[in-house]
Amino acid sequence: MGFLDDLRKDLSFFGGFNLTIRHLTRPRVTFQYPEEKKPKQPRQHGRHVLNRYEDGMEKCIGCELCAGVCPAKCIYVRGLDNPPDHPVSPGERYGYTYEINYLRCINCMLCVEACPTEAITDSKMFEFSFTNRSDAIYTKTELVVDDEGMPQKMPWEDWREGDDVMTSGWMRATAPSGAAAYEGLPQWSGELGYGVRQGEGGQSDQRDDDVTGSKLLRDLLPGHLLSEDIDISNLGIEGRMARAKKQGEFNKVRLEQAKDRFTAKRAQWKVDKANRKAAK
Ligand code: SF4
Ligand code: SF4
Repeated sequence: MGFLDDLRKDLSFFGGFNLTIRHLTRPRVTFQYPEEKKPKQPRQHGRHVLNRYEDGMEKCIGCELCAGVCPAKCIYVRGLDNPPDHPVSPGERYGYTYEINYLRCINCMLCVEACPTEAITDSKMFEFSFTNRSDAIYTKTELVVDDEGMPQKMPWEDWREGDDVMTSGWMRATAPSGAAAYEGLPQWSGELGYGVRQGEGGQSDQRDDDVTGSKLLRDLLPGHLLSEDIDISNLGIEGRMARAKKQGEFNKVRLEQAKDRFTAKRAQWKVDKANRKAAK
């Protein structure tokens, strides 16, 4: 065994740093939470709001469907007949009492799905904590949007830019009426602070983000990118397959190069052999 082999053996422990060194050059994925935060996704489930129509009337009609569907049983609703002279909502009844107990809520948003009038929707703000139980029980005072149609912000809630953007658009973003034929057609009335929203492209590829307001959201939050905006190598299983394909192509090229080298060496060997034979 030569000197170089000995040296290679002695320094073989450096191979253990291989992975560490490779990671030094990779992009950092950690954030200094809570000072820095990752962009939230367009359908992020956060703290609820109770919406109002453009004329200020409450959308909640006190039907209690949200309370019925809630798996954590954390919604308490009591409806009351609308006073004929001063109706609170356009329906026969309105939500007289509305409470959500956030010590129990699991943010499943089944209540949002169940609501027939889109009265209850969710913002993207989910970072809030309480020092007493009563703060955790939100009543209409905290849940109904303010005079501008925006969510009310409690002192213990950590609202960041973009958290209240399109808070009333959660269901609208899925598919209006659930039928592709109705895509792009507004199927709803106007909303305080937002006006009448255009329908989103949803399943169709003819989406106009400028018209629907999604563009604003995408500009604000880099996480709201369309799949075509994202480098394919960063897309989950698709990305893995793309990387594997790329590696496969690279391996194929190397194999071809190795084959060429082998063929050239073999040809050279044959020439050398013929020369040796001729020299004898
Ligand atoms: S998000 Fe789920 S758990 Fe929370 S109030 Fe709505 S239905 Fe109940
Ligand atoms: S929020 Fe919606 S589902 Fe719940 S009581 Fe009001 S109208 Fe009914």
